[in-house]
Amino acid sequence: MKTIALNKFNKTLQLMNLPIPQIGDDEILVKSLETGICSTDRELLSSQAIVTPDGDDNLIIGHEAVGKIIAIGASINFFKKGDIVVPTVRRGCGNCYFCQNEKSDMCTTGKYKERGIVGLQGFMSEYFSEKASNLVVVPSKLQKDAVLIEPTTVGIKSIYAGYEIQKARLYGGQNKTVNEIFKNILVIGGGSIGLLSSFILASLNTNVTCIDVDDEKGVKAEIIRDMGGQYLNLNEFKTESGINHSVFQSKSHKANFDLIIDASGNPDICFCFIDYLRPNSMLILLGLPGDRATVFSKYFDYSTFVLKNMIVLGSVNANKMHFEKTISHLMNLDSKYLNILNKIITHKLHYEQFEEAFALKTNERIKVVLTW
Ligand SMILES: [Zn+2]
Ligand SMILES: [Zn+2]
Repeated sequence: MKTIALNKFNKTLQLMNLPIPQIGDDEILVKSLETGICSTDRELLSSQAIVTPDGDDNLIIGHEAVGKIIAIGASINFFKKGDIVVPTVRRGCGNCYFCQNEKSDMCTTGKYKERGIVGLQGFMSEYFSEKASNLVVVPSKLQKDAVLIEPTTVGIKSIYAGYEIQKARLYGGQNKTVNEIFKNILVIGGGSIGLLSSFILASLNTNVTCIDVDDEKGVKAEIIRDMGGQYLNLNEFKTESGINHSVFQSKSHKANFDLIIDASGNPDICFCFIDYLRPNSMLILLGLPGDRATVFSKYFDYSTFVLKNMIVLGSVNANKMHFEKTISHLMNLDSKYLNILNKIITHKLHYEQFEEAFALKTNERIKVVLTW
């Protein structure tokens, strides 16, 4: 079978031919249908240390996948051939409390592995095998966009974590909807994580403002407007030392936010907006700055976090429960929202065109998908 693999020595992607995996009694063989390309994959290409599986010089990349079950181990009775499934990504360390309790996304030792990212082969291959416990069945209504389920879980996890925390600390756990707790939201960064988080929040009837460097005529702006949100082009109010507040205030429909989600990984931009957070609000950080040098203290008074009782919530990865929650959330949406979701996939290319797919620039693509 064909795979797309990264060699740890020459750090280049190549199409390789490998045997189709054999499955054990507790494993399932899946034929890949689509795999998404995300910034993690692009960062791996320039990474200093590529962690391949033990005894292997190549890492098959890809962690956003959807496939069809073609063979099932003898001891499994929950799945059936033909089921469309999405795999989870992280495999726990086995030692910490969280990994022992199906929450490897909260691993405290850092000794987890992730398929296609660190220490385990990924899903950019014609077939992959997986334990039944790491697969989630996709209902037929969602199969068209199932490759977006994994990146959506990242938003779902953080939004619901933030919601539960706010509900508990502000309202003693009283029944409140997500949009009662997060009415106005600012999302910084319109890549797939930012757009999918915006999408989930908009579908929960919140007011979303999304900022990105793309043109207001571009596809990101169109998707945000489709969901009833406001799109702002950062270039119109970005200055050398941060942002021009009066220009931002004149453009933004909302003056205050109950939640900011940073999906840009750029604290030099994200922290410029801290003063627009209401008292008792929350900041969720999903983006990683990588090796970007940052200077942020000049943008806001750090005591703001204290005096406004704000929570800063960092969030990474997602466990099986978040995959199930993502699917049940999407299943409840009507076609208006599902059509918006589909727009986030801007390109579909056959896997043999992977070089072209990886070369697409940020201003021309959101989610690029390889078909198998
Ligand atoms: Zn990803
Ligand atoms: Zn762990």
